[in-house]
Amino acid sequence: MSNLNNGFLSNRVLKINVGFLLHSDPGTTREYTFDLPKVRLAQDLTLTSLQGQVRLTRNTRGVLAQGHLAVGHLTECVRCLEQFEQHLDLDIEELYVYPPTPDAEFHVAESGNLDLAPLIRAEVIVQTPMGSICRPECRGLCPQCGQNLNEGPCGCEEDAIDPRLAILRDLRTND
Ligand SMILES: [Zn+2]
Ligand SMILES: [Zn+2]
Repeated sequence: MSNLNNGFLSNRVLKINVGFLLHSDPGTTREYTFDLPKVRLAQDLTLTSLQGQVRLTRNTRGVLAQGHLAVGHLTECVRCLEQFEQHLDLDIEELYVYPPTPDAEFHVAESGNLDLAPLIRAEVIVQTPMGSICRPECRGLCPQCGQNLNEGPCGCEEDAIDPRLAILRDLRTND
């Protein structure tokens, strides 16, 4: 069975069965390396890339997930409103409680599955800066006609010329 769905990997690839860790002594550790293309992390979040390592360590309260992930995701530029790919470096450190308790935000399921997707999603949301712009020199939209000025000037620029410059221009033509 393929994990590919419309060119996107399902977030099932981030579900790890840690049954063997649950039966191991505290301190037992296992490292996982990810190098994934587009992943549908959740209904509202698609990653364009996911790379890095996560280490899972058994402790007396469950399984500790620690790692460093570099992800790309699509977000909207606040200036030009176009989607662009933003890159984030995520430091992961979270306890997955086992046995699962209702009050634990992250837990290892009774089946032994540990799902990294909700944790990565939460980190992406926290780490995404407010007011992201696609690039420092983004020209944004024309406030008058709404054209994306990155794609070229619109016809509004003549009218918007600084009045002081307009006077200089008039003086020059009077010479
Ligand atoms: Zn922009
Ligand atoms: Zn315009």
